[in-house]
This record gives sequence, structure tokens and C-alpha cells, in this order.
Amino acid sequence: MSSKTLPVIIVGGGPVGLMAAHICNKLGLDFVLLEQYHSVTPDIGACIGLWAPSLRVLDQLGLWDAFEPQVKPMFDKISFTQEGGIIHSGSIFAVNEKRYGYQTSMFRRHGILKTLYDSLPERSKQQILVNKKVVALDIKEESVSVRCEDGFEIEGSIIIGADGSHSAVRECTKELARKSFSENEPFGKSEDFKTTYRLLFGNCPRIGDAKPGTVYECHRFGTSTQVFVGDDIMWFFLYEKLDKPTSEHKSYAQKDADEIAARYADHRITKGLHLRDLYKARSASGATDLEEGILDKWWWKRIVLVGDAAHKVTPNAGLGFNSGIQDLAAIANGMRSLQSKGGSLHDNEAIEALFSQYQSQRTKPMRKFGDLSAKTTRICAWHSRTAMIWDRYIMPALNLELIMSRLLVVPIVSNSIVLDWLPEPHYRSGSIAWKTAPNLNLTEEVS
Ligand SMILES: Cc1cc2nc3c(=O)[nH]c(=O)nc-3n(C[C@H](O)[C@H](O)[C@H](O)COP(=O)(O)OP(=O)(O)OC[C@H]3O[C@@H](n4cnc5c(N)ncnc54)[C@H](O)[C@@H]3O)c2cc1C
Repeated sequence: MSSKTLPVIIVGGGPVGLMAAHICNKLGLDFVLLEQYHSVTPDIGACIGLWAPSLRVLDQLGLWDAFEPQVKPMFDKISFTQEGGIIHSGSIFAVNEKRYGYQTSMFRRHGILKTLYDSLPERSKQQILVNKKVVALDIKEESVSVRCEDGFEIEGSIIIGADGSHSAVRECTKELARKSFSENEPFGKSEDFKTTYRLLFGNCPRIGDAKPGTVYECHRFGTSTQVFVGDDIMWFFLYEKLDKPTSEHKSYAQKDADEIAARYADHRITKGLHLRDLYKARSASGATDLEEGILDKWWWKRIVLVGDAAHKVTPNAGLGFNSGIQDLAAIANGMRSLQSKGGSLHDNEAIEALFSQYQSQRTKPMRKFGDLSAKTTRICAWHSRTAMIWDRYIMPALNLELIMSRLLVVPIVSNSIVLDWLPEPHYRSGSIAWKTAPNLNLTEEVS
């Protein structure tokens, strides 16, 4: 690519934005990352699970050794009713390890952010600008520009919008598309995310009878809990159905989280623990709405959306960050191919072809994951009487969790995207073949 290429502008320094920074770095592309808050490593949130394809990409980025010591592996899952009756008990995570060769690995969200940031080279860290809230975008003939709330402006080759479910890039792009009167390239029609559930989250030291490596779930009408147990830590989530779905954005203060916890203090966690026990022992907690939605279009001209900005799913099935990594891998492979043909990020036709290919690769698996995540949330929190009957009686009797994961999830995972131009030093496989095995001829990294 020409040395005159303007930097890639990444908006948002969450897990997906920081991964985008690593990928630009490997591609040898200049970038600038703009984050609205004062830090890209805030200690907020609880845990995020990484599945096998994401671990493969981290390995390709040279991050295996930094992440591996932080893994809290999960093996078993047990779900029960508030009265303590077992609904289902099984080893889905151990089964997945046999299938793919990688453990289901839980990480602190803060650990992911910090490791991604710390492992960037110093020159790349200089390109991460905090207190830069993006408020406006503009498209020029062969470039883009971004303006922040403080007046800072920058011109770039493309914009990667990794700014989460309330994406300013998405909203500004809608406005640009509307003004351009381009009927052939609609963007932003019927694309509001809706919230049907909210989440109380937190963590505490491991207490009581909670067994490391186990996920405990308690299912009730309108709520469910999900607790991941590591050797020394427990991450807890309580999902609560709202009275009615809404498109409004709501922020929650600490007192709101405390109020939700008090309301469900008696919610069962394990045989011997209730939410009040974990909340009393907590190190941190918070609450958030769980928006849901998948955009019809994920790009417009030289602006592309990735991660939660393009598709937001509920976290029960752990598919948020993992899906964002798949987005980036698809875009990165397109950029790498463009580079190898001597193409330029300023070539409108090439960029639109790249983004269009990205969306067509990612839409189908993402729609399936959106559907799976939505159904999981609703079945666990007994959204209706029918959901309760499925959860308590039909699914366990037919062992549907295992069958569904084999029929629905395995084909998507085995077809998942990795960086087809980087080696995988810690490559593993299991009983299910990966469609994209590593290219064994690759021994050297690109940058
Ligand atoms: C504070 C927080 C805690 C979370 N905790 C958990 C958790 O415990 N478990 C879980 O499964 N998921 C959690 N999530 C969601 C999870 O991070 C995402 O679902 C997933 O990782 C995809 O990440 P993302 O980078 O696309 O979006 P996000 O994680 O939402 O990151 C988006 C980033 O963009 C920044 N941003 C937003 N608007 C602008 C703007 N206008 N200008 C510049 N920057 C902007 C935000 O400050 C944020 O840093 C959390 C999200 C947040 C924001």
C-alpha cells in the first residue's frame, strides 16, 4: 500500500477497538484510536468468555502467552429452579474442549482490556487517544474525517466504528447517508436496538459451596442468574425482564444496582448460596440494559461498523466479544489481500468491495447467533409459560442443549474466520475439523 495512506481511524477503545489496533499493527497500517473516556482500561464490568476461534486469533496476534495465565476454565454447567430442583446438569464446556481442542476460557473484562493495551508496542500506544468523544464524521473524495467533542479533528483512510451499542459512528453515518440522497446505498433504515432485559453484574471472591470450573444458573419467571466460578473468584449476572421492551437508553448508577440486588436477594445461586451472600461479599457491581439488534447494513462508503456497534446480543451465550473478533478477522483478511495486490485503502471501489464482502461473510452466522442468544436469555428467564416448559421439561428430556450445540453452533465454529496470513504457534484441534487450518508455510509475522 502507498506510503501516503492516511491512518485508519478506530472509534472506541473497548475490547473490539483494542483488537482492531493490534490487527492494524500486524498489517503495518498506521492507526489512531479515539476513546471517549479517560482510559481504555477501566476496571468496569465482570467477565467475558473467549471461545476457541478467538483464542486462535489471539495466538496469531502473538498474545497467547499474555492471556494464557489469566484463563479461568469452565467445564460443567448446572441449572436449577428457585426451590433447588435440578433442571439440567452437564459438561457442555468439557465437551467443547474435546470438540475444538481449546478450553472455554473466562477472563476478567478488565484483564482483557489491560492485556490488549499493555501488549501493544510503545509507538502504537501513542496512537491511542483518550478523552476523545467522537461527535461528527465527514466523507471526502477518498478519505474520511472525524471530529471530537473537544474540537480535535483528524483525517483518515477509513473509519472502523467499534464504539459499542450506542455507537456515535452509526448515528453520524445515518445522518451522512440521509444527507447524501443516495437511494442506492441506504443506511440506517429500521435499525434501532431494543432492550427487553437488564443485567445486574458483579464479582466476589469464591465462597460457600461454589465449585471452580462450574457455571451455576437459577431459572425463574422473569429472571435468571448465571454465575461463573473460578478458583478464587465468582462472577455473577442477574438477568431481569423489563415490563416492556424499549428503545430508550438508560444509564444505571450504583444505587440502581444495589436496588436490583436487594429486590432479588433471595435468588438462588447454588445449593447453599443466595444472591445476598455474593452481593455482601462483592468487590464490584453494576447494572446495564441489554440492547439487542443486528443492523441491516454494517458499512457505508468508507465507514465500517464492528462488534456491538453493528450487532448487539444478550451475553448468556457469550457471543458478543467473540463475534466482534470474527468481524475484525474478516476485514483484516480483506485488507491483507488488498495489500498483497498492491491496492490502496483510498481506492473507493476496493474499499466498498472489501466491506461488502465482510458483511456477506458475517451476516448469516451473526443472525444465527443473535437468535440463539435471544432464545437462551428468554428460556433461562422463563419469558413465558411455553419457555418454562421448554426449559424444565422438553430440553432436558431430549438433551437439546447438546444436540442444538452440535447442529447449530459447531458448523459456525468450525467455519470461523482466522487471520489467513499469520501463523498459529499454539494451534490445537479436536474431534471437529477446523475449516481454516493454519498455513504451515507461515513462520514469520508481517510486522
Ligand atoms: C463498561 C462495560 C462493561 C462491560 N462488561 C461486560 C461483562 O462483564 N461481560 C460481558 O459479556 N460483556 C460486557 N460488556 C460488553 C462487552 O464488552 C461487549 O459486548 C463486547 O466485548 C463487544 O465490545 P465492543 O468493543 O464492541 O463494545 P464496548 O465494550 O461497548 O466498547 C465500546 C467502547 O467505545 C467507546 N465509545 C462509545 N462511544 C464513543 C464515542 N462517541 N467516541 C469515542 N469512544 C466511544 C466506549 O467508551 C467503549 O470503550 C461491557 C461493556 C462495557 C462498555
